[in-house]
Amino acid sequence: MAYSNDKKSEKCSFCGRTKKETNLLIAGVSGHICDTCAEQAHGIVKEEIKSKAELDLNHIKLLKPIEIKNFLDEYVIGQDNAKKFISVAVYNHYKRLKQDDYKEDKDVEIEKSNIILVGETGTGKTLLARTIARMLHVPFTIVDATVLTEAGYVGEDIESILTRLLQVADYNVESAERGIVFIDEIDKIARKSDNPSITRDVSGEGVQQGLLKLLEGSVVNVPPQGGRKHPDQKMIPVNTKNILFICGGAFDGIEKKIAARLNTKVVGYTASSKSEEIDRENLLQYIAPQDLKSFGLIPEIIGRLPVLSYLNPLDRDILRSILTEPKNSMIKQYTKLFNMDGINLEIDENVMEYIVDKAIEFKLGARGLRSICEAIMIDPMFEMPSSNSGDLHIDLKFAQAKLEKINFKKLKVA
Ligand code: ADP
Repeated sequence: MAYSNDKKSEKCSFCGRTKKETNLLIAGVSGHICDTCAEQAHGIVKEEIKSKAELDLNHIKLLKPIEIKNFLDEYVIGQDNAKKFISVAVYNHYKRLKQDDYKEDKDVEIEKSNIILVGETGTGKTLLARTIARMLHVPFTIVDATVLTEAGYVGEDIESILTRLLQVADYNVESAERGIVFIDEIDKIARKSDNPSITRDVSGEGVQQGLLKLLEGSVVNVPPQGGRKHPDQKMIPVNTKNILFICGGAFDGIEKKIAARLNTKVVGYTASSKSEEIDRENLLQYIAPQDLKSFGLIPEIIGRLPVLSYLNPLDRDILRSILTEPKNSMIKQYTKLFNMDGINLEIDENVMEYIVDKAIEFKLGARGLRSICEAIMIDPMFEMPSSNSGDLHIDLKFAQAKLEKINFKKLKVA
């Protein structure tokens, strides 16, 4: 192959542009290709190889549940129970995808193991789902259940959940059909039957009914651009059979339902010693499907979310670890940001303790850690890249001075 000489007649064999109209025209044995077409061709080849590899299950190294948990441990602190449940569910999900290759037990069909995670906001539900998707290299999207409404009402149709998944999969339907969807705030679509002023439960039971169809696996017509379905929009059929759904919610007040159930059990059955074993500080650990029902999820939905786990509230030690331990921890991120400018960042241990104290004092949780760090770091991040100083040492006095200027109410995270 050689660069073409400057003959006027030479054209790109793909787009027909003449040599003059291109930046570069490369000559082949019996034709030419211009720089633009070469780039496009390169893009197509890369995409093809990537999506082929993603779709070929034999290429995916199937990690064992313990290995999956170890991976989660690198990014998420604590929450062992949820990690264990997720690890097994994901492992089984992949076995399920491979079950057609498995000749024995043809009659036994492994069902989908959609997951529901219950835990206060900011305890790591989304982070767990995101980390799983990172490990599996599959399309992943987060949707907020609060925006969903029954078809025909103001809000988004249920199908829009899949629009997002299609978008992140670059509209590769096959790839989207193996993706993971995290539905946040699932508790907000609980039935509000105790509210008599609601004549039509637009965002409650109707939405749950709509969601059922997606969770159980069916072919759904998805509007490619999202929004409302309208007759002249061409729909894309997506089969949700192999999409893993992970739902998360805070389920505020569900502890009362758990306590009520545990109490009746204790009274109804045996000795009082049973009740002493109950850890009243963390009732979520006893969560059972019937509590979700008492909270207002319909039994059919609960049945389609067979893996139920909980997240623990974050205590002081965990908040401290979150600052520095995860592979992608906040402090590691700040260190990298400064390092890229040749600045060495050093933070005193008592500053870390102070950040944690403030997050607890103002009930900001793990999300608050970031807001507090930002408040401390904003001035140095603004000024230091233009200064010649090589090191940044953050001591308690510096951190206190920065935070004193901040109105903590403003740090409150939604
Ligand atoms: P949720 O979905 O439960 O409301 P998130 O997963 O969005 O909470 O958590 C918010 C942020 O807090 C995360 O991005 C992460 O930085 C931090 N975080 C929360 N819990 C943990 C945890 N267990 N380990 C590490 N980081 C955490």
